[in-house]
Amino acid sequence: MKRFRIQWGSKELRFACDVHLAKIAKYLRLMGFDAWYRNDITDDELVGMARFGRIALTCDRRLQERLPQSVVLLSCEDAQKQIRRIAKMFDLARYAHPMKRSLCCNRPLLPVSKVKVRKKIPKETYRWLDGFWICPKCKKVYWQGTHAKRMRENIVEWLGLSENV
Ligand SMILES: [Zn+2]
Repeated sequence: MKRFRIQWGSKELRFACDVHLAKIAKYLRLMGFDAWYRNDITDDELVGMARFGRIALTCDRRLQERLPQSVVLLSCEDAQKQIRRIAKMFDLARYAHPMKRSLCCNRPLLPVSKVKVRKKIPKETYRWLDGFWICPKCKKVYWQGTHAKRMRENIVEWLGLSENV
């Protein structure tokens, strides 16, 4: 069987999360990473994704043993600890890019002119901001500030950055 190696440090870090890692998928997307997740994904599908270049994340040892080179075993601890470990493991701070991915469907966001999305933006935000992004699938509009302050603080913490970033 052909084996696929993880390209450690690659900019094209693409993840696939098992059914228990919904939060991890969301956190990764928040930081701009491609994180595949579906709440009914089977073990076979996950392993298949790992074979085709995704880094599969799981807490299930038996699943990890099926493809040890491409499936990463996480210990069963809270999601905050898990994401910090993943950030360290893959040096995510180097590649993180907020406002790059839709949180709900993992699609890359596209820049959009604010005139086009005026109806979806609060008045005050429309007045003061110019940078807006849209998800081509669910049409949700994002801007700096979409994510609550607490969430931004979380990202800084996960990535081990200083508070001034
Ligand atoms: Zn979306």
